[in-house]
Amino acid sequence: MAEATMHAGGCHCGRVRFEAKTDLGTLISCNCSICSKKGLMLTFVPDGDFRLVSGYDFLVDYQFNKHVIHHLSCARCGVEPFARGKAPDGSPMVAINVRCLDDVDVATLEPTPFNGRDA
Ligand SMILES: [Zn+2]
Repeated sequence: MAEATMHAGGCHCGRVRFEAKTDLGTLISCNCSICSKKGLMLTFVPDGDFRLVSGYDFLVDYQFNKHVIHHLSCARCGVEPFARGKAPDGSPMVAINVRCLDDVDVATLEPTPFNGRDA
């Protein structure tokens, strides 16, 4: 597996910027109601490997269903660069939308389908 490295990313208009340390080893393409509409491709990192660089005041929190995941989108451009949730053991996790990373060519990635629709 590739070594975890820092990746920078952000929303479309650039107000929301973040950094995350990830090896991009596990990528999820989920078919749940929000991922399928947004086209999210996600990788998960512990909260400690994520840093919001700018745009805190622009983040809009959207929750649905069981309200366990905070879907955070930019108020200006509408892009969702990441979401916050918890791992099964309760520790804070961040779901990075890898489509929002600056240095990643998503055409080269092979996400794993996840049946979130029935989860
Ligand atoms: Zn934006």
